[in-house]
Amino acid sequence: MINIAAPVIDSEERRAVNEVIESGMLAQGPKVAELEKNWAEYCGVKHALAVNSGTAAIHCALYAAGVKEGDEVITTPYSFIATINPILMLGAHPVLVDIDEETFNIDVSKIEVAITEKTKAIIPVDLYGQPCDWTELQEIAEKHNLKIVEDACQAIGAEYKGVKTGSLGDFGCFSLYATKNIMCGEGGVVTTNSDEAAAAIRSFRQHGMVAPYEYADLGYNYRMSDLHGAIAVEQLKKVEEFTKKRQENACKLNDGLAGIVGIKTPTVSDNRSHVYHQYTILLDKNIQRDQFITSLRDKGVGAGIYYPKPLHAYPHIAKLGYKIGDFPVAEDLAARVVSLPVHPKVTDEDIEIIVAAVKESING
Ligand SMILES: *Cc1c(COP(=O)(O)O)cnc(C)c1O
Repeated sequence: MINIAAPVIDSEERRAVNEVIESGMLAQGPKVAELEKNWAEYCGVKHALAVNSGTAAIHCALYAAGVKEGDEVITTPYSFIATINPILMLGAHPVLVDIDEETFNIDVSKIEVAITEKTKAIIPVDLYGQPCDWTELQEIAEKHNLKIVEDACQAIGAEYKGVKTGSLGDFGCFSLYATKNIMCGEGGVVTTNSDEAAAAIRSFRQHGMVAPYEYADLGYNYRMSDLHGAIAVEQLKKVEEFTKKRQENACKLNDGLAGIVGIKTPTVSDNRSHVYHQYTILLDKNIQRDQFITSLRDKGVGAGIYYPKPLHAYPHIAKLGYKIGDFPVAEDLAARVVSLPVHPKVTDEDIEIIVAAVKESING
């Protein structure tokens, strides 16, 4: 089976973990500090703070953005659930804005009508690894005095007008979960240029601590261990190499799948680079997705669906007052997406298998 995701773990990662084990100090320490320094440098920001998941990263960023109970936060209905849950963790209200059908990202032309006096922040998601329409987002945020918390969990290394994700908003949030473009099993990073916000995040990830046994506010244990940090340091060294392989594979898939009736291959909008966390095709409405995916899997292609439902279809979001029909683009695309393997371990031979399987499966 050609799996939909496959982490690349080599001797460098093994050696780095062993060094931490031999040091006897496994909790947050020098490896996490090294990761933070290198990550900030890579993204071109002043601060990077490591935490133990992408979800924690978003929670920390929203906290540092000053989001409080009763505030509204604008985001997309089409993402992983971890984009929206941290809004609820802070007692704030998620306000959803439909997506653009070409990029799967938030439709920036629909944001301003959703802004109210209670709006505090926007969480744009660079879905599948393609940056959002950042010029428009930055203009809207500035005009309405909103903080931008970028969910870049799928987009490490992607650029908009030559600027890297993580430095496009007030905060950038990354995940190092096992299937992400670079990973350490579980982990996350928040980036920011604000000294004050960085201090707030340092405190929030450690029980709200501001000095030994001084707790200024409610906080959590969101620290990353040095075992995870050691893996992440090695993975970050390879991010460009992994990205290049994903982009080459996407290019080959585009060529191989061109002209097949019944599918639409992914597009990249102007002024940005796509890092293909997922390579996601869109099926025509008349094609039975379940049958198509079963057929692909029978042929050795581990296709996936990211994501089968829009966020407002889940009960804890629906109960906030949303119903099916509210975000027609997200609902339509959720019913028609299929992601194909594109990760660095996918070989040219695999690409041929994937292309042939799609051709055969699309015709039933
Ligand atoms: C993976 C992911 C997250 C959360 O990351 P975890 O590390 O699993 O908590 C958030 N948003 C998006 C878009 C993601 O893909």
